[in-house]
Amino acid sequence: MSARPAGKVWLVGAGPGDPGLLTLKAARVIAACDVLVYDYLVSSAIVALAPPDCEKIYVGKKAGAHTLEQDEITALIVKLGLEGRRVVRLKGGDVFVFARGGEEAAELHAAGVAFEIVPGITSALAAPAYAGIPITHRDHNTSFTVATGHEDPIKGYSSLDFAKLANPKATLVFLMAMGSLAGIVAKLREHGMPDDMPVAIVREGTKPRQETLVGTLGTIVAEVARTKFAPPAIVVIGNVVRERDAIRWFDTHLLFGKRVLVTRARGAADEFTEKLWEIGAEPVFAPAIAIGPPDDAAPARAALATLGARAWVVFTSANGVDACFDALWHDGGDARRFGRARVAAVGPKTAERLLERGLRADYVPGEYVAEALVAGLLERTNPGDSVLVYGAQQRRDVLPETLRRDGRIVEVVAAYKTSYVRDEALAGAAERTDVWTFTSASTVESFLENVPQAGVLQGRRLVACLGNVTAQAARDGGLRVDCVAATFTVDGLVEALASPVAH
Ligand code: SAH
Repeated sequence: MSARPAGKVWLVGAGPGDPGLLTLKAARVIAACDVLVYDYLVSSAIVALAPPDCEKIYVGKKAGAHTLEQDEITALIVKLGLEGRRVVRLKGGDVFVFARGGEEAAELHAAGVAFEIVPGITSALAAPAYAGIPITHRDHNTSFTVATGHEDPIKGYSSLDFAKLANPKATLVFLMAMGSLAGIVAKLREHGMPDDMPVAIVREGTKPRQETLVGTLGTIVAEVARTKFAPPAIVVIGNVVRERDAIRWFDTHLLFGKRVLVTRARGAADEFTEKLWEIGAEPVFAPAIAIGPPDDAAPARAALATLGARAWVVFTSANGVDACFDALWHDGGDARRFGRARVAAVGPKTAERLLERGLRADYVPGEYVAEALVAGLLERTNPGDSVLVYGAQQRRDVLPETLRRDGRIVEVVAAYKTSYVRDEALAGAAERTDVWTFTSASTVESFLENVPQAGVLQGRRLVACLGNVTAQAARDGGLRVDCVAATFTVDGLVEALASPVAH
């Protein structure tokens, strides 16, 4: 017998688009798979959750442009499962709602491949919800029907019972119906549904490009033609559509549909990204800086042996915390090395990272700048105390200088280095975004080196900066700064973005 490990296939629903609507279970199995087989309706942000060494296979399936035929896809996942791989077959929305999940599961069963189903949030429910349309409402309906428009009734091969569907007390939701809309509308009218019955079509539901077209049974076909409203979209027919005026919430945000350039180092932007999706904005990643090891890592490493002998150990960024603890773990040590030393963090994000690594910061200044940190440390130390600072190479020098002047023994070690990225993609990303965000002076400076014409290009694009030092660097570089985050955190930046101040 071969010792081949047993393969398994997870049929996973990715939800309608907003990565925040992925289930916890889906995120867990995606993060642990060897192979990811995914459709065109799956967000790239969700595909990005797969491990870096995972094989990613795009199988397309957009109307008229199939990358692989359905039976080829089924054969592929069966083969991968038989090879002993851990396969995630990722589909838009839910796996069993017009997604051929049933066929794939049956074939896996027939081939003896173990499988699991992870349901997803279907666009049939989520797209109306994000358009402010409740699929049921006591004033309007007692049931809803989700149907496919894939079969065009005009061409005479629809198996849908339009006499039953034309019930004004039930909500109708059609998927894949843009090609057959005229036929569906004609059939419903034929069976007595009134011309003034409201209809909404939601395209790219739950995504920053969501668009909603509202009309009536009598007007919608002409409206679609006039606006060239294109799929993927779902069609909602029923009086519940009237509620949108009052319940509309997602596409009303100030930053809805805006593309936001994220220039900070890759990997550091997760929380920021999630917040952007929440408000219907689309993050566009083009890191202007990269975080790497310092030119000489020896001093930072040597300092690890002296942590417990310090009065204070100071961290000036979350990157410094990561660098210190990564080295500590590599060394076979852990948080106990800090012994009786007290720990300071420049701001809440740095303190949070320390907490993740098992240390509670003894001091976090109320204002997240080096000057405030120095003042606080002076209050908490005595002359002769030993202070170790885990900073960036080329960091600002106010902290050690002031502390030294007052008799503290300060050692600053470079825990990491920030380097400028040279990337032609930055210019293109700048051009196709509406808001440019900068979280440090170094991101501004590197961005401007990559996009020297940025001052001219800016036009109506908003520039948002984290903190005054960053804002000044942007102004010095010829940019108009439209908003500066009130606090030196990403939350503050999002808040400032949501209500740009006059400059
Ligand atoms: N399994 C999917 C449906 C796949 S069929 C689900 O449960 O959502 C593909 C159809 O789904 C598209 O033609 C469109 O009608 C609909 N659809 C999928 N994602 C959508 C979205 N984000 N917004 C609007 N409609 C969507």
